[in-house]
Amino acid sequence: MAKRQYLRLPPEQRSLPAQERKKIYEARTYRKRRLKYVIGYGGKCACCGETELDFLDVHHIEGRGTLERVQAGGGSNLIRRKIEAEFPPGMEVLCANCHTGIERLGFCPHKRPTRA
Ligand SMILES: [Zn+2]
Ligand SMILES: [Zn+2]
Repeated sequence: MAKRQYLRLPPEQRSLPAQERKKIYEARTYRKRRLKYVIGYGGKCACCGETELDFLDVHHIEGRGTLERVQAGGGSNLIRRKIEAEFPPGMEVLCANCHTGIERLGFCPHKRPTRA
């Protein structure tokens, strides 16, 4: 299995030092796992409906993200745990824009409260 992956590196990357190749594989594994995580939680921004997976992120609804990440020993471990636990509730998918809005303002600018 692992060997087949090595063969799939583009020619210009095959001659890189082992350490560099390892980084490439790890980045790929991480990306695949992250996509699985985003898809597992619905694969669509809960605010604006964005479905481009590379724009999406999983957000802690109750804002415990930092704490949970630390407890899990890093974001990558946290993702693995959530996948293993079959996507427990308390999380929602947001795109990068909506996520940033919520972190900066406490709500997404798409849903900016209007003065009535
Ligand atoms: Zn969005
Ligand atoms: Zn939004």
